[in-house]
Amino acid sequence: MAVHAAWKPEFKSYLRVEIVRGTPGAPPRLSLHFGHTDGVLVSDGPYERKLFSLLDGSRTCQEIIREMKSDPHITTVRVWGDLKKMFEFGLLQNAAADKAGLSQKHIKRLERHIGYLGLLDTPGEKRYHLQRKLLESHVTVLGTGAMGSHVLDLLGRIGVGNFRIVDDDTVEVSNLNRGRFTRADIGKAKTQVVRELLLGIDDAITIEVQEKRINSAQDIVDILQTGRKTDLVLLCADTPLAISSWMNQAALQTGIPFLTSGYQGCGAEVGPLVIPGKTDCLMCLLGRDAPDSEDVSHVEVPQELVWLNERAATGHPTDAAHTAFVASRLAHEAEMYLIGQTPNTLGTILNYDPATWSFGSLERPRVRNCPACGRRHPDETPE
Ligand SMILES: [Zn+2]
Repeated sequence: MAVHAAWKPEFKSYLRVEIVRGTPGAPPRLSLHFGHTDGVLVSDGPYERKLFSLLDGSRTCQEIIREMKSDPHITTVRVWGDLKKMFEFGLLQNAAADKAGLSQKHIKRLERHIGYLGLLDTPGEKRYHLQRKLLESHVTVLGTGAMGSHVLDLLGRIGVGNFRIVDDDTVEVSNLNRGRFTRADIGKAKTQVVRELLLGIDDAITIEVQEKRINSAQDIVDILQTGRKTDLVLLCADTPLAISSWMNQAALQTGIPFLTSGYQGCGAEVGPLVIPGKTDCLMCLLGRDAPDSEDVSHVEVPQELVWLNERAATGHPTDAAHTAFVASRLAHEAEMYLIGQTPNTLGTILNYDPATWSFGSLERPRVRNCPACGRRHPDETPE
């Protein structure tokens, strides 16, 4: 990692310090830590105390070295080495990091989030640039109901700057138990309510509204090929039943990545993030066993029980906390993708069981020769 002499080192703002006294007779040490966890332990000596007291972001590395060298026993190599180590360890960030052209208004609103991005970026040097990536991103959200409204709320708050939102539905009283809606919204178009929600967070957000019902893969292709090119699609609609398959087809046709999620009883699935040409597609993962696959030729249903499948297609039971939890994971995965980190759901489906507070991934063999994307998985079993 390159650390520059002109950087102004400061401790990342979540760090605390305390003196740790070990066994009797052992010298005390300083712990730099977060919360109650053990932190980085260093000697508690005059050198450390003086060096740390200078790490408030007001001095360059060069100035710190000069000040430390007022003690003739202290060398440039020692101080420079310690500063580099602390940057590499993620304890420090550069207070003079380039602001990437962000406005003061955005810096003020997004200050905490920019700090969070600084945690993902070890030396904290790129945090404003990562925020800028989000401000310049364009995300299309299909479905602005319960899941979509929460996801959009979260993405708007972390500074995603441009959206296309698609839905043809209006708010009903039955939406109030889990979506980001109130009684005053009943009867309004969901897209309009969500648009106002986003503009209430930041009036610089651009929002393209399409009040449209999706009835085919081509409908999604048409949506994605209208206006500005989208960076990522979030599928937040669960009807019509075949919409996931249509999304998969549309992504493969346009080359635009998508991310989705779903409920499984009291649990949930998040992902996959499908990047056409780079990851497995939804059909590779689920094949024709996908509950919404258009290929239902292998499914035999007793005529008297067709109503059961029709009822299941009207929506999965959930509660507000669960919906918001899944939406938050979806938004976070989207954020990781948009800033160039590797999301956990890349080409795979993660599942969550709230009863045991456990997380896992969907372990099932990939389709050997995927009929949708043509990917081959020779070691896998199902055809
Ligand atoms: Zn595939």
